[in-house]
Amino acid sequence: MEQPAEPVTKKPRRQEQEPAATEVTEVAPGVLRSQLPISLPGLGHVNCYFLEDERGVAIVDPGLPGPQSWRALVDRLKQAGYKPKNVHTVIVTHSHPDHFGGAGRMRDTYGAEVISHRKFRTCFDPPEDEAVVDDDATPTPPPWGRVMPWRSDSTFSPPISRRLKFKVYRTALKRFMRTPAPTRRVDDAEVITLAGREWVSLHTPGHTDDHLCLYDPVEGIVLSGDHVLPSITPHISGLVAGADPLTAFFDSLDKVAALQGVGLVLPAHGHPFHDLAGRAEAIKEHHAERLDVLRKAAGELGSASVEELSHHLFKPRSWGPMAESETYAHLEHLRAIGQAESRDDAGTLHYQLIG
Ligand SMILES: [Zn+2]
Ligand SMILES: [Zn+2]
Repeated sequence: MEQPAEPVTKKPRRQEQEPAATEVTEVAPGVLRSQLPISLPGLGHVNCYFLEDERGVAIVDPGLPGPQSWRALVDRLKQAGYKPKNVHTVIVTHSHPDHFGGAGRMRDTYGAEVISHRKFRTCFDPPEDEAVVDDDATPTPPPWGRVMPWRSDSTFSPPISRRLKFKVYRTALKRFMRTPAPTRRVDDAEVITLAGREWVSLHTPGHTDDHLCLYDPVEGIVLSGDHVLPSITPHISGLVAGADPLTAFFDSLDKVAALQGVGLVLPAHGHPFHDLAGRAEAIKEHHAERLDVLRKAAGELGSASVEELSHHLFKPRSWGPMAESETYAHLEHLRAIGQAESRDDAGTLHYQLIG
């Protein structure tokens, strides 16, 4: 779900790509780091943090769905002296499968509370305004025609009725993915007491619209999810709600950079680190450079499609929907700040610089 900030060829492996270590380590009093295996582009593990308290343990981001990740989670819990039934709470930082995987099983089988941001919604769930009331009701299909708003060829015409198609699709995915239904949805600046600490919830949209970080102002600890990673930048999708996800991301970076007294950052991938403000600034600079590349390409091309411009921003091995989605997010940002305009050419969006 993330992309390397720069090409990884001829460079040492980034820490986020390291395979999951099996040992569990204490990173702060009562806070343990475990690693669960994943194999996604640029990622070799996801950190699942254990927050210990007198009730048992809360876990943050319990990995991918499926038996391999579950077995690893049970093994890591055992090393720390726990069984799945000791997990009273699961915190899911955002709606990507490498973060919510084990949450549904923890809730359904062991009665764990599942905490997310109020906006938590996976791509397998229907949009809020088309929400399904219950499992037996005939669900409303998602807006197939808006899969990729910058491409005319991205509309989807299901061969059978849309309702049936969506119902089959959703049932199959639900069975496999166990999309978790949070039991507690929090807003920004709520207090969540876990591991003997009072964590403050921080809504940090950008990577996803529902991204949640937790901040312990007393000990200066931040659980940063995918919002701030140590050596790669999170994918910024043009497909999230909101007109300008890049501005939302910049605002969220400023928000965490302004936190006082942060001494330990616990990311969802890679090693814990210390300089949150410095890393947030470096990520902003990375995107500023990407915007410069786009401005230069758009200046040379005059008017160009998102696909065409994405080829200036990404190496050929990365071309495709994710590269286009991130390019689209950057172009929409340029449009939002008045530096570019778009026009619809037979269903394909074309962008050009203004002035
Ligand atoms: Zn993510
Ligand atoms: Zn992730």
